[in-house]
Amino acid sequence: PVVTRFAPSPTGFLHIGGGRTALFNWLYAKHTGGKMLLRIEDTDRERSTEPAIEAIIDGLKWLGLDWEGETVFQFARAPRHREVVEELLAAGKAYRCYCTPAELDAMREKARAEGRAPRYDGTWRDRDPSEAPAGVKPAIRIKAPQEGETAIEDLVQGRVVIPNKDLDDLVLLRSDGNPTYMLSVVVDDHDMGVTHVIRGDDHLTNAARQMIIYNAMGWDIPIMSHIPLIHGSDGAKLSKRHGALGVDAYRAMGYLPEAMRNYLVRLGWAHGDDEIMSLEQMIEWFDVVDVGRSASRFDFAKLENLNGHYMRSIDDEALLKTFLDTLPYLPGGEAMAALLTPEKAEQLRIALPGLKDRAKTLVELKDGAAYLMVQRPLALDEKATTILDANARALLKDVHDVLVGVNDWTVESTEDAVKAFAETRELKLGKIAQPLRAALTGRATSPGIFDVLIALGRNESLGRIADQAR
Ligand code: GLU
Repeated sequence: PVVTRFAPSPTGFLHIGGGRTALFNWLYAKHTGGKMLLRIEDTDRERSTEPAIEAIIDGLKWLGLDWEGETVFQFARAPRHREVVEELLAAGKAYRCYCTPAELDAMREKARAEGRAPRYDGTWRDRDPSEAPAGVKPAIRIKAPQEGETAIEDLVQGRVVIPNKDLDDLVLLRSDGNPTYMLSVVVDDHDMGVTHVIRGDDHLTNAARQMIIYNAMGWDIPIMSHIPLIHGSDGAKLSKRHGALGVDAYRAMGYLPEAMRNYLVRLGWAHGDDEIMSLEQMIEWFDVVDVGRSASRFDFAKLENLNGHYMRSIDDEALLKTFLDTLPYLPGGEAMAALLTPEKAEQLRIALPGLKDRAKTLVELKDGAAYLMVQRPLALDEKATTILDANARALLKDVHDVLVGVNDWTVESTEDAVKAFAETRELKLGKIAQPLRAALTGRATSPGIFDVLIALGRNESLGRIADQAR
């Protein structure tokens, strides 16, 4: 069975590219009936942080991506990594290198002067360790093949061939005894039983180096898929300006996880012309061999459209739940959450169908729902203040009296009553709806005015109208 893994370095939040890599790994595992594992590559002790680990896990959960079994922490496995180095030394496939930092610098300098890529020159490969200078702690290097070539059969990139003369004897264990990233990844992928490595194509040359380690240990090499990176809408490398934000930032902007997933899966992969697909369809259709070779472009407008689609199509109960779960992460959301009594929550449930048609994001939904949360007497915004002139306030007094007579508080009966009143006054409905809206919401825009009356309920509505009537 297929075993994939997501292997983030916890040096920052889960960025959008990482989210897509995780999604591809997850989908491929689901598609093949296999499983995805999670490994936190926390070997960079300076830059790895606990909040970053939490943000990554939180981001994966928000995207609805789960993993099998315990999370593996790479740093904790260093003893195992050293054990493998001992095996390679014992088998004569690795050796101690006593070069000093100054000597290594000189090697790099020389390569640069000769216009070559810097490469370890193999000084200690065959040299007798008894010649080792006193006091220099050795690094351990692998004996890489010097002739021939290393070929990667990549499911996305195709066959990638790298001449072995370009791959030097890479360090497995630093002189301070710390395993290198290259070694740790190989040992962990092997021990975790990973069959498929799906990751960014910035790791493609690492793959060739990692193959040298697999071969030296006589281990099976996982099937590689190096996926193209995400670029900005202008084709340049993705930066903050383009949307290279943490997944958590998208949550705070009010995007739904469903929309985010649908957006991410289409970055570099397509199923015909299908833009919108359910999770089930993604699982059925996704195959890593269909990932394209060129960089995809991040397009905010597309994400926004998808989000609008999901806002409208998701059922009301599910949307309400997502909204309430997300509220604390939205700007000003904690304050609203604090005001959300059971009574207000019920009003929100009633108002939701009217609100969601006007909202492309949960942030817009929250702004639309703000009128439910405010306390009487309402603070009026500038436009509402203008609407509520003396005439409008006098009109509200009469509308109030008409509505007091409505006992069956429904959209239909309130609408009938207000329309009948408009006719007797020979007024267009809008002439009454605008002051009503200003009085009920404190603003000049809102969902349909009768929806607002029903969501607020009879008492609150009559109270708000009376507050502004003269
Ligand atoms: N930790 C690496 C990264 O975050 C990924 C390594 C891998 O997938 O092999 O870029």
